[in-house]
Amino acid sequence: RAKDGGRNQLQFYTSEMNARVTERTLIEGHLRNALPRQEFVLYFQPRIDCVTGRVAGLEALLRWRQPELGLVQPDRFIGVAEETGRIVEIGEWVLHEACRQAKAWQDAGLLRVPVAVNVSARQFRQAGFVQEVRGALEASGLAAEYLELELTESLMMQNIEAVIMAMRNLKESGVRLSIDDFGTGYSSLSYLRRFPLDYLKIDRSFVRDMLHDAPGSAIVRSMITLGHSLGCRIIAEGVETSDQLGYLTQEGCDEIQGYLCSRPLPGEQAGELLYLEG
Ligand code: C2E
Ligand code: MG
Ligand code: MG
Ligand code: MG
Repeated sequence: RAKDGGRNQLQFYTSEMNARVTERTLIEGHLRNALPRQEFVLYFQPRIDCVTGRVAGLEALLRWRQPELGLVQPDRFIGVAEETGRIVEIGEWVLHEACRQAKAWQDAGLLRVPVAVNVSARQFRQAGFVQEVRGALEASGLAAEYLELELTESLMMQNIEAVIMAMRNLKESGVRLSIDDFGTGYSSLSYLRRFPLDYLKIDRSFVRDMLHDAPGSAIVRSMITLGHSLGCRIIAEGVETSDQLGYLTQEGCDEIQGYLCSRPLPGEQAGELLYLEG
């Protein structure tokens, strides 16, 4: 019997592995055509200032309209794109498209807040990355203060000196910088102060858990204090309830982003939101 069980388990693992390989092959194959066929589109999720209640920024989030797969979410393809290196050209498209959209809003008199773009580690490590950002700003004509780059904590903690240098160059160009998914990437606290950061985004896993027990709320409170002492504005990600909003506001969090305020919106709807803000 034990032997049978073992065999079944082996079969189970094998079919799960097969499914994973098939999914990967599928995504990798379709991904090859995604840029030339113009299948990518950006959505924008607003974040809200806790004090004024007004829109404080918009995060550009990538979506993939694949004819056979439908609207594909990043969790299903960003990993594959990173492994294959395709993320570099995809990221370049995102940067240009976000700047183009932001400039259109700027021209329409609608833009008073930065548009944030997620940068993958692989893209950031390209030798010409800083130049690429400047190129996207020049090509679009967007004022640099309206572009914000989100770098993950894990990206920043590798090759720290080179990262600091690149970040300083980016700051000199006038863009804003955020540390994304903060709390998930083993930050070295002694290095944290050396990064020229404007925003610290508390990862949504901490927000999700913070009202369940005392340690959970203490961790978020400490992150807010730490971020402020680094001179950052604090953004809480994944805020879904008004209880969470209440606690974050009470603890001095500056901005919140999450389904409580809005889901990510297609460009047109995000534009309408900016218009309604006046
Ligand atoms: P992220 O940068 O941390 O983005 C926030 C994610 O949380 C988004 O997922 C957003 O839709 C989701 N979210 C926002 N509010 C809530 C909420 O209240 N509850 C929950 N459960 N989720 C919420 P999305 O759009 O699926 O993106 C997932 C991740 O994919 C992003 O995490 C980012 O790491 C990556 N990503 C997205 N777009 C890009 C891109 O253009 N380039 C790169 N390199 N990565 C991207
Ligand atoms: Mg982000
Ligand atoms: Mg995040
Ligand atoms: Mg996240």
